[in-house]
Amino acid sequence: MNEYDSNRIYDIAAIIGYNKTFIKREADCYVLNTCHIRNKATEKVYDEIGRVKKDFKNLKKPLVVVSGCVAQAESEEMIKREPYIDMVIGPQSYHKIGDLILKYERKKEKINETEFDVVKKFDELQKIPNSQNKISSYLTIQEGCDKFCHFCVVPYTRGPEYSRPFEQIINEVKNLVSKGTKEITLLGQNVNAYNYNQKYKLSSLIKSLSNIKNLKRIRFTTSHPKDMTDDLIDCYKDYKKLMPFLHLPIQSGSNKILKLMNRKHDREYYMSIIEKLKKVNKDIKISSDFIVGYPGETEKDFQDTIELVKKIGFVNSYSFIFSPRPGTPAAKKKLNNLAENNKRLVELQNILENFQYKNNKMYLQQDCEVLIENKLNNQEKYFGRTKHMTPVIFESSNCHIGELANVKITSFNQKNLFGVHLTNKIKAA
Ligand code: SF4
Repeated sequence: MNEYDSNRIYDIAAIIGYNKTFIKREADCYVLNTCHIRNKATEKVYDEIGRVKKDFKNLKKPLVVVSGCVAQAESEEMIKREPYIDMVIGPQSYHKIGDLILKYERKKEKINETEFDVVKKFDELQKIPNSQNKISSYLTIQEGCDKFCHFCVVPYTRGPEYSRPFEQIINEVKNLVSKGTKEITLLGQNVNAYNYNQKYKLSSLIKSLSNIKNLKRIRFTTSHPKDMTDDLIDCYKDYKKLMPFLHLPIQSGSNKILKLMNRKHDREYYMSIIEKLKKVNKDIKISSDFIVGYPGETEKDFQDTIELVKKIGFVNSYSFIFSPRPGTPAAKKKLNNLAENNKRLVELQNILENFQYKNNKMYLQQDCEVLIENKLNNQEKYFGRTKHMTPVIFESSNCHIGELANVKITSFNQKNLFGVHLTNKIKAA
């Protein structure tokens, strides 16, 4: 989502004459768009500001803006702690960045803009064309969260669940497709909670987007198990453009831990969703997120996670040791033993990596459909992804970026597939 937001920040700043530069020391304005999900996010911001200070030591100081979720969480505190920062802008206020820069240029006073103004943000953003012209583009359709998992800062930094107007999204996708986008990934902290005016759900969006000529692939992320409703599950049967790959975080395989996390689902419910998905589309693959060593996790709880992982056979998953986020209920809990957590993480990651390896092995000597995203520098080699998001690097003397290519897989490793191009396979959309 930060990639989408960063691109939109560029679009807005361009209106007041600020253009993107790839040479850091040339910048008049330096925007650090931050994410609060990762461990020690706040300290990383100050470290980065330290590097900017060094880079500009003998140069004119740029206007320094911290935007995103760390700015929202820390707000005024950042300006007090680091005088080099001129402005903090929350994730629901970045549509104002052009006006705020002009205001700063006039008054030279520090600015703290961290209001939750999400409706206004998207109303304003829709007036400014999205300049992305990538084969695979991101598009935010939903923001915020009402679930309040005890470890997570999102409900505090992004605010309550909000769904963008249906037509606004369709228009933005059409605009991206007219500029060359072939694959769209719909984004939201709870993307499958999308519900506009109690009338349009995520399944309605997928249905409408499927009718857009030249859009070849549709994906969405990130979903909450509770919002995997039957109409959405059926989309994996009804719409071929919806790719058979779903990121569905479970976090733990232990019901006790899921309850302590306030996840609002148990493992049996999660398993029932997976069963339904496999029933409607046997080609579907699932990835997930796992938190290891959540406060109160015993070896038995951890083994419940391992058992679930083996049962489902996830691909492409993310796993981390629990780390407290200030202001969340879990931050007050006693931490588990770090050595034990590390041991568990290694055990889990070995199993996940092994599944990934075995999954990639299944492609060997098979033909697979790849959406070509770009050409590798100075080589007759291209990069693309399978329907299941696996990266593919392949040789070809006759293919075009943006096409669906038929590639024979000749080798693999845990992360990538390698192959040769057979034929171009352009599907009538
Ligand atoms: S559902 Fe996701 S975004 Fe919402 S609180 Fe839980 S982890 Fe955070």
